[in-house]
Amino acid sequence: MISYPIDKFKNIETPFYYYDTDILRNTLQTIVEETKQSANYHVHYAIKANANPKILKIIADYGLGADCVSGNEVSAALAAGFPASKIVFAGVAKTDREILNGIDNDIFCFNCESIEELHIIQELAASRAKTVRVALRINPNVKADTHANITTGLAENKFGIPLADTEHAIHQAEQLPNIEFIGLHFHIGSQILNISDFTALAKRINELQEHLEGQGVTIKNINVGGGLGIDYANPEQTPIPDFKAYFATFAETLILRENQQVHFELGRSVVGQMGTLIARTIFVKKGTNKKFCIIDAGMSDLIRPALYGAVHKVKNISSASPEIRKYDVVGPICESSDVFVKDYEMPETHRGDLLAIMSAGAYGEVMASQYNCRNLPIGYTTEDIK
Ligand SMILES: *Cc1c(COP(=O)(O)O)cnc(C)c1O
Repeated sequence: MISYPIDKFKNIETPFYYYDTDILRNTLQTIVEETKQSANYHVHYAIKANANPKILKIIADYGLGADCVSGNEVSAALAAGFPASKIVFAGVAKTDREILNGIDNDIFCFNCESIEELHIIQELAASRAKTVRVALRINPNVKADTHANITTGLAENKFGIPLADTEHAIHQAEQLPNIEFIGLHFHIGSQILNISDFTALAKRINELQEHLEGQGVTIKNINVGGGLGIDYANPEQTPIPDFKAYFATFAETLILRENQQVHFELGRSVVGQMGTLIARTIFVKKGTNKKFCIIDAGMSDLIRPALYGAVHKVKNISSASPEIRKYDVVGPICESSDVFVKDYEMPETHRGDLLAIMSAGAYGEVMASQYNCRNLPIGYTTEDIK
C-alpha cells in the first residue's frame, strides 16, 4: 500500500514526483511471475511512459527489455542497462540519425511502420554493411475502448502499415538484401481496461497468420504491443494491474506456431501506480459558485488531465479534517484547462496542505514542460527520501 512520508516531504521543494519503489518492484515481480511459465514470452518496457533513469535501472534489473520510440530513448535504455539484444524500436518517422544509432548499437529489432521506411532502413544498413532485423508494424484496424487520442490501431490512425498491404510489405522486406524480416508488430492503443480488446487483437492476428501461411510466409516473432490500463479511480485498492488476465487472454486466444516468440510492450501498467505528484496548496480561493483549491503543480508538471481529460485521484495528505468540502483543484498556469479535478470532495483544505495526485507514474514527469518558464518537476524515489 502506498504511504507518504510527509515529515520528509516537508523539506522538499514542491511540486515533485514521488516514486514508490516497493510498488514498482511488486509490479515487476508480478510480471516476471506471470510470464515465467512461457519461455517464449518477452516483455519490453515502453520507455516513453517514464524515462527517469532511476526507474529505468530498476526495471532493467528485473530482466525486461525496452521498447523505444526515439533514438534518444534507445540511448537512455542502453545507459540504464537494458541489453541491446532486448531493445525494439518503433516510431512512424525515425530520422536517419536515429536509425543509424539503432544499427550501430545492434538493437534486437526495428518495428518498421511503412514501406517507405523499409527502404530507408535498407539503405542505411547497407551503408554500414550490416543486416538489420525488422518487424513490420501492421495497423490491425482493431478498435480499443479508450480515449480517442490514445487509440493507435484504427485505419484512421497514422501508425503502421495498412492491414491490406501486409503481404506486399513482407515481400518487399524479403527482397531487401540488408533486411532480415523477423515478424509482425501491433499496438492498438493505451489505457485499455476491456480485456476483450486484446482478445480481438489476438483473433485478428490469428486470421492474418493463417492467411499469410497460405502464401508461404512464416512469422518468427509476434509483438502484440502494450496498452494495458490501470485503475485511476482506485489506486489504493488496485496498485497492481491485472497482469494475470492480460497474459491469459493471449495464452488462450493467440494460436502460436512452433518456436514462435511473443513480445509485449508494457508502459503505463508497469509504472503508473508507483508515481504520485506531490503539490502544495497555495491557498483556497472563493469563486462565485465554487471553491478553487489552487496548488503549485500545474499542467506543465502533469498534462494528462488537460490533454486527455484524465482524472487522477487527489488526496489531502496533510489534513484529515472530518469536514468534507467540494473543490476545483487547479494549477497556477495561465490556461483554463489547467484543472486537475472539478467539484471534488476532499477534507477541508488550507494553505500549505500537501496534496497527492495519484497514479501519476506514467506519462507524467516524462511529459512535463517548462511552459510559463516553470521549473521541471524533479522525480524522487523512496530511497532518495529515506
Ligand atoms: C506507447 C507505446 C506502448 C506502451 O503503451 P502503454 O499503454 O503505456 O502500455 C507500446 N508500444 C508502442 C509502439 C507504443 O507506442
